[in-house]
Amino acid sequence: MKTTRKLLLTLLLALLAGNTDAATRPPNFIVIFCDDLGYGDLGTFGHPTIRTPNLDRMASEGQKWTSFYVGASVCTPSRAALLTGRLPVRNGMMSAKRRVLFPDSSSGLPHAEITIPELLKEAGYATGMVGKWHLGHLPDYLPTNHGFDSYWGIPYSNDMDAQQGFPGYQKKGKEDPNYFAPIEQYQVPIIEGKNVIERPADQHTLTGRYTDRAVEYIRANRRKPFFLYIAHNLPHIPLYAGKDHLGKSRRGIYGDVIEEIDAGVGKILSTLKELNLDRRTLVVFTSDNGPWLPFETHGGSAGLLREGKGTTFEGGMRVPAIFWWPGQVAPGTQMEMGATMDLLPTFCALADVKPPSDRKLDGYNLAPVLTGKATESPRKSMSFWRESQLYAVRAGPWKAHFITEGCYGIGPKKEVHETPELYHLETDPSEKYNVAALHPGVVEELKTLAEGLRSAIEPAEDQLVKRIGD
Ligand code: MG
Repeated sequence: MKTTRKLLLTLLLALLAGNTDAATRPPNFIVIFCDDLGYGDLGTFGHPTIRTPNLDRMASEGQKWTSFYVGASVCTPSRAALLTGRLPVRNGMMSAKRRVLFPDSSSGLPHAEITIPELLKEAGYATGMVGKWHLGHLPDYLPTNHGFDSYWGIPYSNDMDAQQGFPGYQKKGKEDPNYFAPIEQYQVPIIEGKNVIERPADQHTLTGRYTDRAVEYIRANRRKPFFLYIAHNLPHIPLYAGKDHLGKSRRGIYGDVIEEIDAGVGKILSTLKELNLDRRTLVVFTSDNGPWLPFETHGGSAGLLREGKGTTFEGGMRVPAIFWWPGQVAPGTQMEMGATMDLLPTFCALADVKPPSDRKLDGYNLAPVLTGKATESPRKSMSFWRESQLYAVRAGPWKAHFITEGCYGIGPKKEVHETPELYHLETDPSEKYNVAALHPGVVEELKTLAEGLRSAIEPAEDQLVKRIGD
């Protein structure tokens, strides 16, 4: 009796203190999203000269996914896919004419789309974002109009607003793996809420400042469920590293950048541990697309995967991914298929929020696989769109390419294949050996899958082509 009374008193005191913790509180979600980080750029994914001890530990304590995809191989559509759980071809965030949004773009993510923070907000979550947005820089399209309570970061890529009269970055970068450009070369603004607070952004200190703001956000919101989206604008070129990291890696400035991001991950995870939030927070670390290979040593590595950013080969759309949630996520290496579009349904399931039912989602709930309750991923296939065209499909281990093309006019020219190229991604992850002639039955199955997708998806009105003053 005495014990029961004591327990009730403790609960009452906790409630009065606003600490409604207990078992009923839904988990926090943190997504750490890098820009142009390649599949092979982390220690835990095999890089020989970049040190990532924090991500390596996160991977060994959590689940490392080796077959995790993005919705598109360039920034804007990939971010739209992550936040909406839908293929960008469905909402016009994909364009044949301009592949991403630019400072003269007049549009952004359509308001009819439903984002992860909008869904979680309805369930009482605090929602914050730091970092690169790239889904519309005009006030109407900024994060605070798409479900985030707060925003601090740059509105588009860090190489935009480029000024004349400076040395060519690509040329200088090729000459020197440690080169960094004067910050005045890129007049990229920092926006807080809807206001420009700094221009040009001091890009040397951005990664460190994103981490500091993320840590502050976690501390300020530790008593309620929160969703925090940390979108690093690096290692997208131009590369800059803070003073504690500059010149410290063996991999040139690209390695310095990754090691600084890694140190930030360490600070975020140790803050969660310090505040006893580690066992109630799912942290996801991944990238928006593959490495930007034409920048040579200033671009990353897709490891053994073929090609990089801008293409529908594996190096363009398969990215490193780590899920961490002590006590909930079953540690290990996960070889089943997943994608950034799966995060929305997964978070909804874990937060007990209904995902939108009035539209087609392209994601699946990965929670059972993450927690070890299921061994098979609900994702059995992946489609690889470029602009409004379906270039390739994957089903199980098989991937068929109907169209192949290098990135941004570099590399192989666009080629339409009457008989698709066929690769077995488990025995041939580098897409080296076209085995279409050996497996005509598989080719037919994948053709049917692709035809079904093409006829089911009507590309939406192109939002990326719209310019201010049109
Ligand atoms: Mg990118």
